[in-house]
Amino acid sequence: MTEKIYSTRAYERSMTATVLDVDTEAGAVLLDRTVFYPGGGGQPHDLGSISTGSDRYDVVKVTQDDRGVWHWIDGQLPAPGAEVVGELDWERRHLLMRTHTAMHTLCGVIWNRFESPVTGGNMTPGEGRLDFEIPQWTQEDRPEVEAEFNRQLAMDYPIEVSFLDRADADRDPSLIRTKVSLLPPSLTVVRVIDIVGLDRQADGGTHVASTAEVGTVRITKAESKGKGFRRIRFAIDQAPTAG
Ligand SMILES: [Zn+2]
Repeated sequence: MTEKIYSTRAYERSMTATVLDVDTEAGAVLLDRTVFYPGGGGQPHDLGSISTGSDRYDVVKVTQDDRGVWHWIDGQLPAPGAEVVGELDWERRHLLMRTHTAMHTLCGVIWNRFESPVTGGNMTPGEGRLDFEIPQWTQEDRPEVEAEFNRQLAMDYPIEVSFLDRADADRDPSLIRTKVSLLPPSLTVVRVIDIVGLDRQADGGTHVASTAEVGTVRITKAESKGKGFRRIRFAIDQAPTAG
């Protein structure tokens, strides 16, 4: 199995690793440890590069199976046992971390205002969309939700990662809106992302350390997706302040 460095240390942007196996047909290598997120939970996989000796290749895709994390390389595959250095496209990954944390913040804002669960979502670097069941949505909601979204981000809530036994996760009523019951039955440990004081959900993705690091956001669209359903799109507005 691959040690998933991104799961506990989201700010690690490079690693040394050993090639466990190669898939010559796919052009992919299985590594013993990685900072590359393989995608999931609406967050796209990372991009970056892998170097062996003096050769450096682009990582064009990252996937995951029951053996670990596979890095799809544009070039000559290193042999099993080889040592490689992996490096993320950090600018893109950090923007995805900000976007993902903004997604969870919006979940918290919508939950506090409407008690509406999220029904779907997706993100690209810098932009996100979330679907909610909100039958009572009116015209005033868009500017008010946007203002509250930015107010909550500016609160500078810390984001904590923890791991719960499956049985404890299933018993925790506050995790119900995350649809824990839909997690695969085989999952024995549930990773939890806690925006302390605002939102807590089962999640596999990468996040910034505090909500202020997201910067400010704009709601770009709040369209009806059928009776009672609302699709909210947002964009990250500005670079975070340094420090
Ligand atoms: Zn998430």
